[in-house]
Amino acid sequence: MPTPSLLPPSNSCATPHHTATPPKPTPVVWKGFLPDQFRKVIQEADQVWIAKCLYEPTGQLKQKFEACWFHPLLEPKPSRPEPGWYHRQRLFIWAPMRMWGISLKCPKCSGKMNSSGIYRKVREVIDVDSRYYLVGGDYPRCSKCLNPSLLVCPWSQDILSQLDVAHRSLFPAVLTTQLALDRKGVTFLKPRTSGNSSSYVQSAMEEAHSEEWARQTIRYLSDCERHKKMATFIPSAAVYLPPPTFRPLPLAQWFETVHSNDILSHLDEMK
Ligand SMILES: [Zn+2]
Repeated sequence: MPTPSLLPPSNSCATPHHTATPPKPTPVVWKGFLPDQFRKVIQEADQVWIAKCLYEPTGQLKQKFEACWFHPLLEPKPSRPEPGWYHRQRLFIWAPMRMWGISLKCPKCSGKMNSSGIYRKVREVIDVDSRYYLVGGDYPRCSKCLNPSLLVCPWSQDILSQLDVAHRSLFPAVLTTQLALDRKGVTFLKPRTSGNSSSYVQSAMEEAHSEEWARQTIRYLSDCERHKKMATFIPSAAVYLPPPTFRPLPLAQWFETVHSNDILSHLDEMK
């Protein structure tokens, strides 16, 4: 028991009573900076850290990106375990103009293109045992062709084919209409790889994804256990959401499409 004291609490002595408390800074609503489509594709638990990679606290898109790859931080963890936090995904930012100062030409008139902000569609890429987000940090626009339709997708063949081989090789995926497959997965589909049928690749990768999903789920459940032991005095704090269900991979047919898209994208180089 502390000794009762007639003195006021020590901090009230130090603080003069007449000073007004300074206004609290308004918290930055990071998620609000993301384009609408981003908020549909990017999982809730990934939205804030991804917005911080892309934007300044004022909401302006960053002038420069320090890296292509970004990983969600392991700490700090939410005080009560949240399932989405354990299933967060990496981010790849593709911005040849902003990152390397590469100048690109308009595919229509060959005029110089400028970067006009962020490409407003994020893609999810299927990697060997997990998924990541592909974000275009440049949205190339021709300064002469004023038609807004002449904004060019930053990973279209028109753009990729203008890059030197070294920079082009940093682009990590092969795209289809909705999704994308990481280059490593594309390698498995090549005829030189043994057991290369698309259904074999599909089932091997699905197995790897399912094991990784199980590992993430185990980490979540074991943190719930630990939290539950600490929260014995506040029963309401020990209510946990179920882990997210496993998301199966696309069918073997889709892997076939990726393989053909990859071949088509190299046709020009072979001519
Ligand atoms: Zn043009």
